[in-house]
Amino acid sequence: MAVTRTFSIIKPDATRRNLTGAVTKMLEEAGLRVVASKRIQMTRQQAEGFYEVHKERPFYGELVDFMVSGPVVVQVLEGEDAVKRNRDVMGATNPADADEGTIRKAYAESIEANSVHGSDSDENADKEIRFFFDEDELVG
Ligand code: ADP
Ligand code: MG
Repeated sequence: MAVTRTFSIIKPDATRRNLTGAVTKMLEEAGLRVVASKRIQMTRQQAEGFYEVHKERPFYGELVDFMVSGPVVVQVLEGEDAVKRNRDVMGATNPADADEGTIRKAYAESIEANSVHGSDSDENADKEIRFFFDEDELVG
Protein backbone atom coordinates (compact mmCIF):
# COMPACT_ATOMS: atom_id res chain seq x y z
CA MET A 1 0.00 0.00 0.00
CA ALA A 2 1.22 3.47 -0.85
CA VAL A 3 2.47 6.00 1.68
CA THR A 4 0.24 9.06 1.37
CA ARG A 5 -0.61 12.22 3.29
CA THR A 6 -3.70 13.56 4.95
CA PHE A 7 -4.69 16.72 6.77
CA SER A 8 -5.80 16.81 10.41
CA ILE A 9 -7.08 19.45 12.81
CA ILE A 10 -7.12 19.07 16.59
CA LYS A 11 -10.22 21.16 17.26
CA PRO A 12 -10.81 23.83 19.96
CA ASP A 13 -12.68 21.48 22.33
CA ALA A 14 -9.55 19.30 22.49
CA THR A 15 -6.95 22.06 22.77
CA ARG A 16 -9.09 23.67 25.52
CA ARG A 17 -8.91 20.44 27.55
CA ASN A 18 -5.13 20.12 27.01
CA LEU A 19 -5.55 17.02 24.81
CA THR A 20 -3.11 17.96 22.01
CA GLY A 21 -0.62 15.34 23.15
CA ALA A 22 -3.21 12.67 23.89
CA VAL A 23 -4.79 13.03 20.44
CA THR A 24 -1.42 13.11 18.70
CA LYS A 25 -0.39 9.95 20.57
CA MET A 26 -3.43 8.12 19.21
CA LEU A 27 -2.61 9.30 15.68
CA GLU A 28 1.00 8.11 16.04
CA GLU A 29 -0.07 4.78 17.53
CA ALA A 30 -2.34 4.31 14.51
CA GLY A 31 0.74 4.41 12.27
CA LEU A 32 0.61 8.05 11.24
CA ARG A 33 3.61 10.38 11.35
CA VAL A 34 3.22 14.11 11.99
CA VAL A 35 5.28 15.67 9.17
CA ALA A 36 4.04 19.23 9.79
CA SER A 37 2.25 20.81 12.73
CA LYS A 38 1.35 24.27 13.99
CA ARG A 39 -0.93 25.69 16.64
CA ILE A 40 -2.97 28.57 15.23
CA GLN A 41 -5.96 30.73 16.03
CA MET A 42 -8.09 30.34 12.92
CA THR A 43 -9.63 33.53 11.59
CA ARG A 44 -13.33 33.57 10.79
CA GLN A 45 -12.41 33.99 7.13
CA GLN A 46 -10.20 30.89 7.23
CA ALA A 47 -12.88 28.81 8.99
CA GLU A 48 -15.55 29.92 6.51
CA GLY A 49 -13.29 29.10 3.58
CA PHE A 50 -12.20 25.76 4.97
CA TYR A 51 -15.80 24.62 5.59
CA GLU A 52 -17.17 26.19 2.37
CA VAL A 53 -18.43 22.72 1.29
CA HIS A 54 -20.80 22.74 4.28
CA LYS A 55 -22.12 26.26 3.62
CA GLU A 56 -25.68 25.10 2.92
CA ARG A 57 -25.88 22.82 5.95
CA PRO A 58 -27.88 24.12 8.93
CA PHE A 59 -24.94 23.85 11.34
CA TYR A 60 -22.49 25.87 9.19
CA GLY A 61 -22.69 29.11 11.22
CA GLU A 62 -22.28 27.34 14.54
CA LEU A 63 -19.47 25.20 13.17
CA VAL A 64 -17.55 28.32 12.11
CA ASP A 65 -18.16 29.91 15.56
CA PHE A 66 -16.85 26.75 17.20
CA MET A 67 -13.73 26.51 15.03
CA VAL A 68 -12.70 30.07 15.94
CA SER A 69 -13.57 29.67 19.65
CA GLY A 70 -9.98 28.77 20.56
CA PRO A 71 -6.69 27.59 19.13
CA VAL A 72 -6.46 24.56 16.86
CA VAL A 73 -3.51 22.40 15.83
CA VAL A 74 -3.29 21.85 12.08
CA GLN A 75 -1.20 18.86 11.05
CA VAL A 76 -0.08 16.95 8.00
CA LEU A 77 -0.01 13.21 8.65
CA GLU A 78 1.87 10.64 6.59
CA GLY A 79 1.42 6.89 6.52
CA GLU A 80 0.20 3.95 4.50
CA ASP A 81 -3.23 4.82 3.13
CA ALA A 82 -3.20 7.90 5.37
CA VAL A 83 -6.71 9.23 4.63
CA LYS A 84 -8.44 5.97 5.57
CA ARG A 85 -6.05 5.21 8.41
CA ASN A 86 -6.82 8.61 9.95
CA ARG A 87 -10.59 8.34 9.39
CA ASP A 88 -10.52 4.92 11.09
CA VAL A 89 -8.75 6.18 14.21
CA MET A 90 -10.93 9.34 14.33
CA GLY A 91 -14.18 7.38 14.54
CA ALA A 92 -17.69 8.41 13.50
CA THR A 93 -18.65 12.11 13.29
CA ASN A 94 -21.12 11.65 16.16
CA PRO A 95 -19.26 10.30 19.21
CA ALA A 96 -22.40 8.37 20.17
CA ASP A 97 -21.76 6.23 17.07
CA ALA A 98 -17.95 6.04 17.37
CA ASP A 99 -16.24 2.69 17.97
CA GLU A 100 -14.17 1.90 21.05
CA GLY A 101 -10.52 2.81 20.57
CA THR A 102 -11.23 5.84 18.39
CA ILE A 103 -10.31 9.44 19.20
CA ARG A 104 -13.90 10.65 19.05
CA LYS A 105 -15.12 7.85 21.33
CA ALA A 106 -12.40 8.73 23.83
CA TYR A 107 -12.57 12.52 23.71
CA ALA A 108 -15.37 14.10 21.63
CA GLU A 109 -17.91 16.17 23.54
CA SER A 110 -20.67 16.26 20.90
CA ILE A 111 -21.36 15.82 17.17
CA GLU A 112 -20.04 19.36 16.68
CA ALA A 113 -17.24 19.52 19.28
CA ASN A 114 -15.79 16.22 18.10
CA SER A 115 -12.09 16.90 18.73
CA VAL A 116 -10.64 16.19 15.29
CA HIS A 117 -10.99 16.87 11.57
CA GLY A 118 -9.61 14.52 8.94
CA SER A 119 -9.68 14.78 5.14
CA ASP A 120 -12.13 12.45 3.38
CA SER A 121 -10.19 11.85 0.13
CA ASP A 122 -6.67 12.17 -1.29
CA GLU A 123 -7.86 15.08 -3.43
CA ASN A 124 -9.32 16.98 -0.47
CA ALA A 125 -6.25 16.15 1.63
CA ASP A 126 -4.09 17.86 -0.97
CA LYS A 127 -6.36 20.93 -1.08
CA GLU A 128 -6.62 21.17 2.71
CA ILE A 129 -2.86 20.81 3.21
CA ARG A 130 -2.27 23.64 0.74
CA PHE A 131 -4.95 25.75 2.48
CA PHE A 132 -2.87 25.83 5.69
CA PHE A 133 0.74 24.98 4.77
CA ASP A 134 3.45 26.15 2.43
CA GLU A 135 5.53 23.41 0.81
CA ASP A 136 8.61 24.33 2.89
CA GLU A 137 6.68 23.72 6.12
CA LEU A 138 6.28 20.00 5.33
CA VAL A 139 9.47 18.96 7.00
CA GLY A 140 9.02 15.19 7.23
P1 ADP B 1 -16.50 14.62 9.51
O1 ADP B 1 -15.74 15.63 10.34
O2 ADP B 1 -16.66 13.32 10.25
O3 ADP B 1 -15.91 14.42 8.13
P2 ADP B 1 -18.62 16.18 8.26
O4 ADP B 1 -17.65 16.48 7.17
O5 ADP B 1 -19.97 15.65 7.87
O6 ADP B 1 -17.99 15.17 9.34
O7 ADP B 1 -18.91 17.50 9.11
C1 ADP B 1 -17.87 18.42 9.37
C2 ADP B 1 -17.96 18.85 10.82
O8 ADP B 1 -19.18 19.57 11.02
C3 ADP B 1 -18.02 17.72 11.86
O9 ADP B 1 -16.77 17.17 12.17
C4 ADP B 1 -18.66 18.42 13.04
O10 ADP B 1 -17.72 19.24 13.74
C5 ADP B 1 -19.67 19.32 12.34
N1 ADP B 1 -20.99 18.67 12.21
C6 ADP B 1 -21.33 17.65 11.40
N2 ADP B 1 -22.62 17.31 11.53
C7 ADP B 1 -23.13 18.16 12.47
C8 ADP B 1 -24.43 18.34 13.07
N3 ADP B 1 -25.46 17.58 12.71
N4 ADP B 1 -24.56 19.32 13.99
C9 ADP B 1 -23.52 20.11 14.35
N5 ADP B 1 -22.27 20.00 13.82
C10 ADP B 1 -22.08 19.04 12.90
MG1 MG C 1 -15.77 15.82 6.59
